[in-house]
Amino acid sequence: MRKTRFLTGAGILAAGVLALTACNSGTPGAAPGAEGGDSAQLWEVASEVSLDGSPTYERMVSADKVVVGVKEDQPGLGFKDPITDERGGFDVEIAQWIAASLGFDAEQIEYKTIPSANREQELVNGNIDYYVGTYSITDKRKESIDFAGPYLITGQGLLVAADDESISEPDDLAGKIVCSVTGSTPLQRIRDEYAPGDTVEYDTYTQCLEQLRGGSVDAVTTDQAILAGYVAQEPETFKIAGDTFSEERYGVGLPKGDTVLKDHINALFNDGGEVWTALFDKNLAPAGIEGEQPTADE
Ligand code: GLU
Repeated sequence: MRKTRFLTGAGILAAGVLALTACNSGTPGAAPGAEGGDSAQLWEVASEVSLDGSPTYERMVSADKVVVGVKEDQPGLGFKDPITDERGGFDVEIAQWIAASLGFDAEQIEYKTIPSANREQELVNGNIDYYVGTYSITDKRKESIDFAGPYLITGQGLLVAADDESISEPDDLAGKIVCSVTGSTPLQRIRDEYAPGDTVEYDTYTQCLEQLRGGSVDAVTTDQAILAGYVAQEPETFKIAGDTFSEERYGVGLPKGDTVLKDHINALFNDGGEVWTALFDKNLAPAGIEGEQPTADE
């Protein structure tokens, strides 16, 4: 489905010091997250787990599996190889690390690819146990779900054709068509705080990339960490235009009220600096992304 909407109004530059930037100096042609292989050697599957008072953990134990919501078209973050069906990327491995800390091995994880717009509902409906997929912590989302984290901080940016010299910041979007994803924070922000000529929305960022490739949109906007993965795959075709203009704090989406599970995941993150760094270096650094581990305090 394609929706369009015209906007007016002055842009407001969101201030914020970003802990993570993408400079697009990564290995050309690298496909982070697509190389497969897991990082199970970085952790052990916990054998004595006690999460008294976590209804989500009880559900996992009685199902003898963990159901995790993820993305599958975001190289370096949440990616499914179309040929091997193998999943990888920073978010997928964070999900595997959490599962192991709860006593579940990689074979006991069932993945569900869920687009941005459906995340809260899938958690509320109990269709997934947790969600790890470029999921920004926001007060609005916290009305219906909880977050552990943050485990990564990035910011909203712009992706344009490699030969486009006309866009280097959001204020250059006057008269331009910008694509983003339904239910995402970048779509909301570009509409609320800036004045692009028009916006179009799809379920996934790869659909936006196809529109950019075909010339029917001028830019794609979402988090720089996501955009850097696309540029790393096709540096001749796409480039990042300018700096980030928001702060996006990625959290693990959880069923609301499960503070036992939330506290468990936050402790895992805060005690697991070495694992975090290994996952970051493997999955995100090759795309030129820089960053450091934030304190998980949600
Ligand atoms: N982090 C943003 C969000 O949670 C954009 C990425 C996404 O759509 O997953 O809305």
